[in-house]
Amino acid sequence: MRYISTRGEAPALGFEDVLLTGLAPDGGLYVPESLPHFSLEEIRSWRGLPYTELAFNIMYPFVEEAIPEADFRQMLDDTYSVFAHKAVAPLVQLDANEWVMELFRGPTLAFKDFALQLLGRLLDHVLEKRQEHAVIMGATSGDTGSAAIEGCRRCEHVDIFILHPYERVSEVQRRQMTTVQGDNIHNIAIKGNFDDCQRMVKESFGDQSFLGGKAKLAAVNSINWARIMAQIVYYFHASLALGGPDRSMAFSVPTGNFGDIFAGYLAKKMGLPISQLVIATNKNDILHRFMSGNKYEQHQLEHTLSPSMDIMVSSNFERLLFDLHGRDGLAVKELLENAAKGPVSIEDYRWKKARKLFDSASVDDQATCDTIREVYQQNEYLLDPHTAIGVHAARACRRDDQIPMITLGTAHPAKFPDAIVESGLTVKPALPAHMADLFEREERYTVLDNDRAGVQAFIAKHWKNA
Ligand SMILES: *Cc1c(COP(=O)(O)O)cnc(C)c1O
Repeated sequence: MRYISTRGEAPALGFEDVLLTGLAPDGGLYVPESLPHFSLEEIRSWRGLPYTELAFNIMYPFVEEAIPEADFRQMLDDTYSVFAHKAVAPLVQLDANEWVMELFRGPTLAFKDFALQLLGRLLDHVLEKRQEHAVIMGATSGDTGSAAIEGCRRCEHVDIFILHPYERVSEVQRRQMTTVQGDNIHNIAIKGNFDDCQRMVKESFGDQSFLGGKAKLAAVNSINWARIMAQIVYYFHASLALGGPDRSMAFSVPTGNFGDIFAGYLAKKMGLPISQLVIATNKNDILHRFMSGNKYEQHQLEHTLSPSMDIMVSSNFERLLFDLHGRDGLAVKELLENAAKGPVSIEDYRWKKARKLFDSASVDDQATCDTIREVYQQNEYLLDPHTAIGVHAARACRRDDQIPMITLGTAHPAKFPDAIVESGLTVKPALPAHMADLFEREERYTVLDNDRAGVQAFIAKHWKNA
């Protein structure tokens, strides 16, 4: 399987190189040149399989040139056995034909564990084979950082440096990053905001000379193809559990950078009957505004009760735009260069194609809290604010009661207690047993000034082979 850039000017790469690179040299994102397609008969034969075996069937075509079959099976077993539920992604029923798929039973209580637990193991495997070392550099405002650190804690060939804005992430989120012990784990608190952290990471990818040519930077944000790949699996898993592929399914996906829902779109292209995909956004609703009015336009960032969806642009949307433009990379390049300067639209027939593929809703904090309260009152089930946005959008956009509607439950409610308080409930969501002592664990992080040269010097000095 070869991977090509969405901007059409970078050479095609194999899986190993795509895994180890961030953006393509032309500024685009990598996508598979073609997708595997599964017949209904084949999908049907997967009913009742354990999660890891299903994951193998769906993902192996993407990695087979790089990873021997037995190694990949082992990696999947290791990855999904750390989840605190035997079904890995259990389904919870809310109403007749309405479900939440709990994707938060991994070590950091958010769906990002599905991809990042695997990504760490894939990186280590490929680096071991090549006898290379990678330095991961990432910026986080919360979930990504902790999931990436947990995913890489046992990697022998990876050092990970995660920048977070000093005193600007929640205590649970900070502790989930800073209490993970390991010589290869480096938490840096920057005296600045999230944008400062992100800018530093971007600039460092652009000029890696501070590493002296001895290691390469690798990316763990959702521009990394391997993350998308791992997220395709649970769409099949949910469908098979509820009578697919002999009935079609609808999914509602709490969306920020468009990674998770893009995986659903790929599942559909790979043969899974999906009749509806709902983009659920908070007030940072660039995607909903595009879907409603064919205008892609950045607004100011708004801080909401669902911080993991607080974005101004949606990086993986580029992967969809590539398909909407008949995979014409140069057209995508031109469009996104213009989008950086001001609002853009696409040709009407292409926009209509997008509208056929996706529905969308924008859900504010008030409606988020109302949904948390309502579902708790009706079901004694606590939603985290991100999942609540998904449930709200599912109910607003639903087209057919006969079709199961599945909302992706992206985080555990204990991770975002503020929203529960705001919703007027007096229940306190408890951290699961494996995290109950989080507030007693020892923290380790370094506070650095908002200065790129200083941060780069720190990294150059502290990675393993420095
Ligand atoms: C990252 C995240 C999202 C958004 O996922 P995207 O792939 O960026 O669309 C939603 N909910 C939670 C809890 C997250 O951590």
